[in-house]
Amino acid sequence: MSQIYDLILRGGTVIDGTKAPRFEADVAVQDGRIAAVGDLAGAGAAREIDARGLVVAPGFIDSHTHDDQAVLSQADMSFKVSQGVTTVVTGNCGISAAPLKADMELPMPLNLLDAPAAQRFTRFADYLDALRRTPSTVNVAPLVGHSTLRAVTMGSLDRAATPAEVKAMQGLLEEALDAGALGLSTGTFYPPAAKATTEEIVEVGRPLSARKALYVTHMRDEAARVMEALEETFRIGRELAIPVVVSHHKVQNRPNFGMSRTTLPFIRETMQKQAVCLDCYPYTAGSTMIRTDRGMLDGRVLIASSEPHPECAGRDLADIAREWGVDDSEAARRLQPGTAIYFLMDEDDVQRILAFDETMVGSDGIPLGEKPHPRLWGTFPRVLGHYSRDVALFPLETAVWKMTGLTARNFGLAGRGRIAVGQHADLAVFDAATIRDAATYDEPTRPAEGIHCVIVNGAVAWEQGRHTGARSGAVITRASR
Ligand code: ZN
Repeated sequence: MSQIYDLILRGGTVIDGTKAPRFEADVAVQDGRIAAVGDLAGAGAAREIDARGLVVAPGFIDSHTHDDQAVLSQADMSFKVSQGVTTVVTGNCGISAAPLKADMELPMPLNLLDAPAAQRFTRFADYLDALRRTPSTVNVAPLVGHSTLRAVTMGSLDRAATPAEVKAMQGLLEEALDAGALGLSTGTFYPPAAKATTEEIVEVGRPLSARKALYVTHMRDEAARVMEALEETFRIGRELAIPVVVSHHKVQNRPNFGMSRTTLPFIRETMQKQAVCLDCYPYTAGSTMIRTDRGMLDGRVLIASSEPHPECAGRDLADIAREWGVDDSEAARRLQPGTAIYFLMDEDDVQRILAFDETMVGSDGIPLGEKPHPRLWGTFPRVLGHYSRDVALFPLETAVWKMTGLTARNFGLAGRGRIAVGQHADLAVFDAATIRDAATYDEPTRPAEGIHCVIVNGAVAWEQGRHTGARSGAVITRASR
């Protein structure tokens, strides 16, 4: 009697997430896992999907997100699953949804996670339990944020932590790691952590060492002092003897254009001596909280969201300032809290960093408001379509690896990121000829084109441009590596 599986993808071209050359094969799924890869002509399935002419790849892993609350409050996660994303790494840039106190005021940018007060979690374990009770469509691999730990622990954030505060933060970090957090993220670029010294971070991070957990950082500086910031990051990794992840590597502001020619060789050289990973998003504009400092207001600034002035979303800061008869910096102050898009990078740097062989793809999307940065909906198809196919920056096998196998390896996501028997059945099926990001700065929420279907832990979650309603995402913890 022939084998009957839950699902068979028939006749697709498998790009398996290891950078190996593509091959033709059927892929069978059983009980949430990949059960067979090869010629399955003799086998049947409860459901068959015709994948002829399409690429069958591991589901994409978004190595850098701010989806901590979205996986609960926007649990269908259409902005990610529509791109083929099946796993999101949360808690980046020092900001995580837990632990928080119920009654505390959140300083910018901690208030940009779309956190309803009723959904505050005082323990990291409570956050993960909530996700297990009401799963999202995608898997969640969580980090805990250092700025969040500071905000919970410290009365004022404009100074380094005292020894007692460091100890308190260590305790919170231990709780998060025991619950399953993959590591600690920092955002010393941001006001809530700008005054944290290297020593503070090393001391708070002590519990990471025994567990070989990750240190993930939005560095202090991504402009003129980016080399110093890299040195600080590597030093923290060495002192704690743990891997570091340089988040959304970039060099910004015009005088620094071309500096990736210096940063990348330094990163490569350091990789010979210690564990270093990096990610980047495929756009020349960044997006973050609305800032008032000159350096950030140098180029074009597009308002993405504003709490006091929601009507300004999608408009240029310069136009708003002119209308209000104030300078850019004052207009920015009046628009806070909110998010903006900053055109501060050079295309050559973006391409050089993206093409660097160890660079993972991460969206850094902010799931907030009507006019987000288009990376929220477009990052992965943009790398596959625009940068791999159209610009020919690297082969499709490499593009897929940068968003699957490489990321799973760096974050220690066991059983993910590859197509092989026994792996979790996270799969993205797409048309290599037509895949493209449709989201633009003007229309940032248009779903990508060319995604045929997306499968999360064996359940079809996205098909023919529509969400199926599946909520099969798992919580991926450090313990389950
Ligand atoms: Zn960041």
